Amino acid sequence: MGFFTDTSVCIGCKACEVACKEWNSVPEDGLEFTGMSYDNTQQLGADTWRHVAFIEQSKPIGQAEPGTDHGGSPGAASDGGGTDMRWLMASDVCKHCTHAACLDVCPTGSLFRTEFGTVVVQEDICNGCGYCVPACPYGVIDQRKEDGRVWKCTLCYDRIGGGLEPACAKACPTDSIQYGPLDELRERAALRVEQLHGIGVEDARLYGHDPDDGVGGDGAFFLLLDEPEVYGLPPDPVVTTRDMPSMWRHAGVAAAAMLGGLAAVFAAHGREGGAR
Ligand code: SF4
Ligand code: SF4
Repeated sequence: MGFFTDTSVCIGCKACEVACKEWNSVPEDGLEFTGMSYDNTQQLGADTWRHVAFIEQSKPIGQAEPGTDHGGSPGAASDGGGTDMRWLMASDVCKHCTHAACLDVCPTGSLFRTEFGTVVVQEDICNGCGYCVPACPYGVIDQRKEDGRVWKCTLCYDRIGGGLEPACAKACPTDSIQYGPLDELRERAALRVEQLHGIGVEDARLYGHDPDDGVGGDGAFFLLLDEPEVYGLPPDPVVTTRDMPSMWRHAGVAAAAMLGGLAAVFAAHGREGGAR
């Protein structure tokens, strides 16, 4: 099970952020305006499990949605074809990676893979070591300063276990956030990309949908209207623990060679001692 977030219909209402906080009792944060953007929460963190990015771009809005009449709006171009800037809005979240490095490095078993294929942290087992924080290729999981433990989206493990959809998806008024079986979501997403290309939105593309990518595909994937970097997403994420098995193999070989060398030294020393 997972998420398909279609950013082409996101209106930036932040209902998902609020619903997530309310359902999961996530502490408040981001109530200060930064002076740089309307986006007051700025990024995902221990106390922001859903984050709606507001990206201002100097591209004609008509390029985003051809055929949409924006004439008469403040700043509209004189030819009625739209303005010379657009906002990209996108609700970001933990990707619930198929190969999740956060889970690989957790020494306590606090992070685990659920029966739905999602990745969850158990707050009563996390010891606050923080190994998972640099391991996440998306910079999602984060330590809460007050208690040192790590926090992130649980894909509403308690709700989906009871047959309910996650709180953020339930609250989304435009169905930008869709929850369901990943195969079905991927089919739906491919159709939506086709539809957008058909009406001239050439930049529409999927992100995190491919099971053959560097993290084995994401349990939360996205339809974007520009390059991933524009949204602050890594273009080609790779599971950071990918090389661990070969590293352990090399460490084993090195340890065996060292023990062999020590044994040879002791044997030689023993022979010399016996000859005296
Ligand atoms: S996005 Fe980061 S925190 Fe979420 S499952 Fe993947 S590695 Fe873990
Ligand atoms: S699935 Fe639940 S925990 Fe995750 S972002 Fe949505 S509301 Fe928050």
